[in-house]
Amino acid sequence: MYDVARLIKAADFAALKHRGQRRKDAEASPYINHPLALARVLKLEAGVDDVDVLVAAILHDTVEDTETTVEELGREFGPEIAAIVAEVTDDKRLPKPERKRLQVEHAPGSSPRAKLVKLADKICNLRDVRDRPPAHWPLERRQAYFEWAREVIDGIRGANPVLEGLFDEAYRAKP
Ligand code: ZN
Repeated sequence: MYDVARLIKAADFAALKHRGQRRKDAEASPYINHPLALARVLKLEAGVDDVDVLVAAILHDTVEDTETTVEELGREFGPEIAAIVAEVTDDKRLPKPERKRLQVEHAPGSSPRAKLVKLADKICNLRDVRDRPPAHWPLERRQAYFEWAREVIDGIRGANPVLEGLFDEAYRAKP
């Protein structure tokens, strides 16, 4: 499939799957803004041209946060995309602290493409927590989020210097 067609298909697929979902900020932004922001950071801010990474970024929360399965992604977008998304998907059956611990543990061993998606995800989330924090998050929780995100990213240093620079810049704005 041509690259532009794959990107449009991924944006359409993600918009459909996340329809009705909102982010946790006070304005309850449409959820799709988040995966699209990852693609924007990867391509427009970091110059990542690997379309598999951009497509996976757009789809990265579909398995974790909607009824989409890895098998479905495999059928629609191929095994490589499905594998990247699977790598960045938390097991929601586990309690939250365990999921957060596993992200720190698994980050260093993830594939190069999954690392790029993970970097973009953490950059976007730090920016969101800084600029549009979830309405009910007290200062300590916002700070703890920054610290945890840094632990995850410290485990994948060397993956992409530009993205790591953008992450560090976002981290320096810690509330
Ligand atoms: Zn995300």
